[in-house]
Order: sequence, then C-alpha cells, then structure tokens
Amino acid sequence: MNPSSYYEPARNRRPQFWRLAMRCTQIAATVDIAFFFLFLWLGSPILAWINIISIALYAGAYYAFKYRRNRLAVALIWVEVLGHAALGITMIGWDSGFHYYLLMFIPAISVAASKRSAAIALSVLWAYYVGLDVLMWNIEPVQPISETALHLVQLFNLTVVFAMFSYLASYYLQMVVRAQRKLKEMATTDPLTGLFNRRHMQFLAESELARFERSGHPVSFLLLDADYFKAINDKYGHETGDQVLVTLSRLIRDELRTQDLVARWGGEEFLVLLPDTRADSARGIAERIRAGLESFPWKQVADQNLVVTLSAGISELREGDDLNSVINRADHALYRGKGAGRNRVELETLEVL
Ligand code: GH3
Ligand code: MG
Ligand code: MG
Repeated sequence: MNPSSYYEPARNRRPQFWRLAMRCTQIAATVDIAFFFLFLWLGSPILAWINIISIALYAGAYYAFKYRRNRLAVALIWVEVLGHAALGITMIGWDSGFHYYLLMFIPAISVAASKRSAAIALSVLWAYYVGLDVLMWNIEPVQPISETALHLVQLFNLTVVFAMFSYLASYYLQMVVRAQRKLKEMATTDPLTGLFNRRHMQFLAESELARFERSGHPVSFLLLDADYFKAINDKYGHETGDQVLVTLSRLIRDELRTQDLVARWGGEEFLVLLPDTRADSARGIAERIRAGLESFPWKQVADQNLVVTLSAGISELREGDDLNSVINRADHALYRGKGAGRNRVELETLEVL
C-alpha cells in the first residue's frame, strides 16, 4: 500500500456519486443526440428539436457539476427528465415508454438523499408518474406517430433504460466492493507505514502458531525497536520522526521475503514473523536489517547528523508456546540488546527454557 495516499489533497478527491452523476449526464446527452436523429428519421421534427433542448440542459448540468454547483446541476437534470417524459408521453402516447426514464431516479434518490427527503422526492415522483398515466387514459396524444414508429421508439427507450440500469447497478456494486476493500485495509494496516497493525498481526500470528502445531515447521520472531527515537523526535520534530518511521518500515520490508509478516507493533517498534526460519537464520536477517539501517544515507530524511539505528530481539517458537510467551522472549532479548549499548541483534537466552 502506498502511504502517501493518506495525504492525498482534498481537491483531488471527488465524491464518487457526483462523478457518476457527471458520467450519467454525458450518457443521457448522447442518448438525446441519438433521439434527435431518430425523430428526424421518423418524420417528427418537433420531437427532434425538443431533444436539442434536452442536450443543452444536460450540457448545463455537466458544467454545473464541473464547477461544483451540484444543486443547480441536479435541478437541471430533474427539469430535463420530468419535462422530457411528460412531453414525449403527451405528444406521442404512453406506449412510447418515455416514462421508464422516471424510474431511473429511484435508486439515485435513495442513494443521494436523506431518508426524509428521499421519502418526499419518491412520493412526488410516484405521483407524477401515476398522474401522467391517468392523464393519458383520458386524452389522446397531441402529435401521434405511426404504430411502427411508436414501437421503434418504445424499443429504443426500453433498451436505453435496460442499459443504464445495468450500468448503474454494476457501478454501485463496484463502489461497495471498493468501500469494503478500503475498510479492510483500514482495519488491518497502520496508516503511517502501511504495515499490518498490531491487531491484524496477532490474528495472522495465531494462524501461524496453529500451522506450527500441525506441521512443526520452525517459526521465528524478530522484535525491532528504533534506538533513542525520542531524541530524534526532540531534535528534528515529530514530522521528521514520522518520515524516519516510514523509511525504516520500507528498509525492514525490503530485507524480507514475501511470506514473512511484518507489523508496526507499537510506536517505534516492529514485529516480524518469519515462517520456516530457525533462530540462527533469523539472526542473519535481523543483522542485515540492522546493517542496512546503519549504512542508509539518513541525511536524505533530515540533516547530515541524523543517524538511525535499531536493536532487535529474536525468539523461535517452541512446543507449548503461545503468542505472548514467544514474543516475551524476543522482548527480553531486545532489552538485553538495549542494555548492551543498542544497535545490536540479540538471540533469546537458553536459561528462559
Ligand atoms: P530506546 O533506545 O530505549 O528505545 O529509546 P527510545 O527513545 O526509542 O524509546 P522511548 O520508548 O523512550 O520513546 C519512544 C518514542 O517514540 C517516544 C514517542 O514519542 C515516539 N513515537 C512513538 N510513536 C511515534 C510516531 O508515530 N511518530 C513519531 N514521530 N514518534 C513516535
Ligand atoms: Mg525505541
Ligand atoms: Mg519502544
């Protein structure tokens, strides 16, 4: 995961709903262009020119969205859809199917409006829809077209509405899937470093423990803690401290294999779980991380004098261990390393056996 996405400036973000609305105005305008030619071809120039007004309304709505005049845009769309449906139906009849477009508002209203406004808007829409139907029981179409032409218009409208509903449904599904993915990411990773968070690491480590019980494959743990991190914060400020943590996480990650798990275990403390790894190999990995940090050109992050080191404690999973006991042994080793002057890798001691 890219940690910079957390600092994405607000102006680059646009609520998805409004992006979808903009896309819909483009699609609707395209449909109206098709209508323009369809009606010219069917010999109804009045209906054809009505579509030019519709196209203008959609263009207006599109630019209103673009300049963040969302209310104006929504008003223009309402005027267009309600007006177009009423005109189409009164001109050529209910069978033209222009009323199908009114149904497209139902999901949009439900998603966008508060419960109360949605209830009001849906009632108004229902009344309008039923009102048009009842009206057409009582009057004849003003500009009737031939039966074949009417069928053609109906087929066209049905097809467009089917396509638009399918598009909307897949878009909403995609939105839900994306939101779920985002939620999962937020629940399992640390926002600063992009590493797993402590809770998720505990969950993953528990399943590694279960695997160990079944297969007996070795599993090692590294507990890494930045040395004198408080002093780094004090000298360079918290923000630079954060940047150091991000760089440190990357350097740790770079030394590991894909199957290794790494988490931000605490403030400046990291836990690494190495499957299929004995303690002595784990020591080699920890030593590589330690040496990598030591030789990293930290002046990139702050100034010439910045030096970042870490101490590491290592333990290997044993029969009868639980997560606490194995991490505790790594913790003891780590603090032995701290006591012995820091910037060191220490293995768990045998006397704890
Ligand atoms: P030692 O070598 O004994 O580990 O010393 P230390 O200063 O690293 O340890 P200590 O536990 O005294 O201080 C840890 C510091 O890490 C204090 C805390 O402000 C800092 N820290 C914890 N989380 C963050 C963070 O997210 N960002 C920054 N910038 N600092 C953090
Ligand atoms: Mg520390
Ligand atoms: Mg610490």
